[in-house]
Amino acid sequence: VQTCLNTHMSLPHTPSIFEKIIKREISADIVYEDADFIVIADIKPIQPGHVLVIPKTPFPDFVSADAVTIAEGSKLCQKIARGLLKLPKVKGINVITNNGAAAGQSVFHLHWHVIPRHEGDNFPMWHGSAESASLQAETCAYLKKILIDE
Ligand code: AMP
Repeated sequence: VQTCLNTHMSLPHTPSIFEKIIKREISADIVYEDADFIVIADIKPIQPGHVLVIPKTPFPDFVSADAVTIAEGSKLCQKIARGLLKLPKVKGINVITNNGAAAGQSVFHLHWHVIPRHEGDNFPMWHGSAESASLQAETCAYLKKILIDE
């Protein structure tokens, strides 16, 4: 019966925590807002000034969003990054969007993290290994093909 329901009926949309923030149903430190985006302070910042750039349209993730949203969101991230870099302690910025649970996404409403970094703050980032080099070549060969074909 469940399979039948899922196949023939669209499931109701469950609003994410970010939609509730946009609708002011949950409070947050809103840093910026316009017609299409909201920027909020991350509740668990890596450094002070760690914010989330969130489109008001609830795309679940980066790959499902339209090109205009990606372009405008990226511009807003750049504006924030330029501002943060004027602060004396801020020596670098990470702009990250996690796409999918396997990549660490926990809120399924597209958002970019803009994270100011301090010299030697030692926040752990990923480090690759040379062992994956042959698989890397194989997957990049696939990418070279699809980027020409599509
Ligand atoms: P991600 O794991 O990439 O989906 O990132 C989700 C981010 O949202 C995390 O860094 C959380 O700390 C942050 N977050 C979750 N709930 C809230 C909230 N109510 N207000 C602000 N940030 C939040």
